[in-house]
Amino acid sequence: MAEIRGADPYAERDDQRELRRLARDIARAEIAPRAAAHDESGDPPLEAAAALAAADLLRVTIGEAWGGLGYGDVEASIVLEEVARADVSSAIWCQLTFNGPPRGIEHLGPPPMRDRWLPAVAAGDALISIGITEPDAGSAVQHMRTHLRDDPGGGWRLNGYKNYSTLGHVANGVLVWCRWPGGEGARGIGAVVIETDRPGVTVTGVHRSMGVHAATEAELAFDDVHISAEDVLIAGDPSNTDAFKVLLAHLNHERCGNASMCVGAASGALEYATAYLNDRRLDGRPLASLQGLQWKLAEMALALDGARLLLRRAVHLAGAGGTPPALETAMAKVAANRAAKTVCDEAIQLLGGYGYSREYPLERAYRDIRGLCIGAGTIEAQLNYIGGSIVKGNVTTSPGWIGTRVGPDRDPGATLR
Ligand SMILES: Cc1cc2nc3c(=O)[nH]c(=O)nc-3n(C[C@H](O)[C@H](O)[C@H](O)COP(=O)(O)OP(=O)(O)OC[C@H]3O[C@@H](n4cnc5c(N)ncnc54)[C@H](O)[C@@H]3O)c2cc1C
Repeated sequence: MAEIRGADPYAERDDQRELRRLARDIARAEIAPRAAAHDESGDPPLEAAAALAAADLLRVTIGEAWGGLGYGDVEASIVLEEVARADVSSAIWCQLTFNGPPRGIEHLGPPPMRDRWLPAVAAGDALISIGITEPDAGSAVQHMRTHLRDDPGGGWRLNGYKNYSTLGHVANGVLVWCRWPGGEGARGIGAVVIETDRPGVTVTGVHRSMGVHAATEAELAFDDVHISAEDVLIAGDPSNTDAFKVLLAHLNHERCGNASMCVGAASGALEYATAYLNDRRLDGRPLASLQGLQWKLAEMALALDGARLLLRRAVHLAGAGGTPPALETAMAKVAANRAAKTVCDEAIQLLGGYGYSREYPLERAYRDIRGLCIGAGTIEAQLNYIGGSIVKGNVTTSPGWIGTRVGPDRDPGATLR
């Protein structure tokens, strides 16, 4: 294939290509062969996690001081794409490791918290889940009830309930968004990180969902759990929303990771369907020779590459050690969620009855990416943010419409996630 690297602003460096190759090899050899069995059983993808850890792929985003490789969002996106191409459930393990609590701990946490968690996460010996969503606080997360109260003996007591914590039943720790005493609405919301075996933490249920069966969500209850200063990731101040805004901005890592998994799963589906059309012969000629089906492939590739480019812009804008900007991230997530739905759906159609069968990987990919359109902030929540930004005169770094505010000075956050 012709080499046109110089013309591509997002061309991968040699080390990034090497990382992609390694992740693809592990995904093909160790993850893909087990994906269907884990989907059927619902067992967490522990072998996949062990293979990723053995290849040092869980170290990607953790700082070198804690045994990581110190890479950023671009490299996280590369690995997530390649793992999700084989299995979204296994990619979710990477997502929690790259773009979940460890990022926040490294950027915001006190030194004992970093030392407690980061080396273990980098080695693949610990997983930390995320507890944000509650029955009355999904998109409108500022209505959360989980709260701290002062403990006369020192520290605080945590009480509340989180109903969607991916792999919360498997994880060793959980990052819990909660309200500090005296806070209301978005004011006073901060976060703590605690072990899941701490007294008062209970797994009260495990969801049976449409997809990502091997990385499903758990319900977690917190009953008077003791919290010390060392457990505080970022303290909520009841007089303002500062901590809440920092936590929301951190979700941009997770959204880019979510988009990366969608791009990866959709790439795998497009490749699978293309190979099938080239192989499958009807009336003495390959299905791939039919123009109507080539047009389907063209539409799939257009949706996928559009999303991929928006994603690359968002992760490149994060720079080394930074956070992807909210507007570009929201656009990338919506485009990737939609592209994955379209591509996986059409790929099933292109295989006819075989696409619908559990013997083939496409229906699993479709069920898996469906949840990604809801998790990490729904498509509608992202559209609210994009539309609100446009109305306020904010533009992206690649402005295509007339706005007034570009880059870091623009409105930094939204109350919806
Ligand atoms: C696979 C998966 C994994 C998840 N993992 C986690 C996790 O690890 N940790 C965690 O804390 N949560 C997790 N979640 C929960 C997820 O973040 C929430 O489901 C999501 O934020 C939506 O909240 P909700 O389900 O309460 O829906 P609601 O907020 O009740 O929304 C219902 C519908 O209304 C729409 N809507 C709501 N408000 C508006 C508005 N103002 N304008 C337009 N439309 C609106 C939504 O887009 C949605 O379509 C996960 C969810 C899924 C599906």
